[in-house]
Amino acid sequence: MPVARLRPISRHIAAIDLHGRFQVAAFLVRHDGGLLLVDAGFPGWHYAILTAAESLPQPNRITHIVLTHAHVDHIGGAAFLARHSGAQVLASAVEKPFIEGRSLAHAACGILPRLVLSLNHWTQARRVEPVRVDRTVDAEDVVCGLRVVGVSGHTPGQIALWHEADAVLLCADALFNVNGSIGFDPVPGMTSNRSGAAASLARLAELGCRDVAPSHGPAILGDAPDRIRRFLGLAVGGPAGTIGER
Ligand SMILES: [Zn+2]
Repeated sequence: MPVARLRPISRHIAAIDLHGRFQVAAFLVRHDGGLLLVDAGFPGWHYAILTAAESLPQPNRITHIVLTHAHVDHIGGAAFLARHSGAQVLASAVEKPFIEGRSLAHAACGILPRLVLSLNHWTQARRVEPVRVDRTVDAEDVVCGLRVVGVSGHTPGQIALWHEADAVLLCADALFNVNGSIGFDPVPGMTSNRSGAAASLARLAELGCRDVAPSHGPAILGDAPDRIRRFLGLAVGGPAGTIGER
C-alpha cells in the first residue's frame, strides 16, 4: 500500500501524492461541509486516501467524490471510499458508462488506442471494484466551489475542475508534468483521441488560468497558459482569459 503525502496546492486544495510508478495524485478540496475528493487512485490505495483525509482538521469527512475519467489509476479506490464515507460519486454523463465498467476501447480513435485500451480493460480495469456514478455533471456546473470544464480526448468524457476562489485548475490528465516536462500521456495508446486531447488543451490555455495542477506530476504555477502554448507550438503571450485574474 502506498504512503500518502499531502502536498498543499492552495488555500482549499491539497494533493495526495500516491507515490507509485506513475506519480499519481488525488486531490482533497475543502468546502463548508467537509472534503470533496477528486479521483481515487489505483485499486488498493483507498486507505492511503482515507488516512490523508483524516489527518486534516474537521470537518474532514469526504462528502463528494468527483471522478475526472475512467482510467484505473483514477477510479480504483472509489467504490470503497464511497461506501465508507457515504459520499456521492459524480462524473460526466459521457464518462459514466466507462467508469461503471464499459471498455474505453469502444470509443478509441485509431488502431493503437483500440489495442492498448482493450488490453488495459482485460488486465487492469477488471481489477477495479465496480463503482456507480450517482450524479452526472455538465460543463459549467459548480460543485462545492469547483466549476466543471470539459476536456475530452484523453478519454471521451474527461472533465477538469476549476476552483474559482483559489484560481487553480485541476486539469486531470489533459496535461502531464512528469520527468521535468509537460506533455500528453507518456503511455502510448492510453489516450482515446489524440487530436481531441490537443484541442482540449489548447482551450485550457485560452481559459487563462495561471495555476494548473495535473494528476501526474507537480503543479504548474504562474505561467501555465504560456507553457501549454509553447508545448502545442502556439504563439505565446495570447490574451489573458477571464479566469485566473487575481
Ligand atoms: Zn488517464
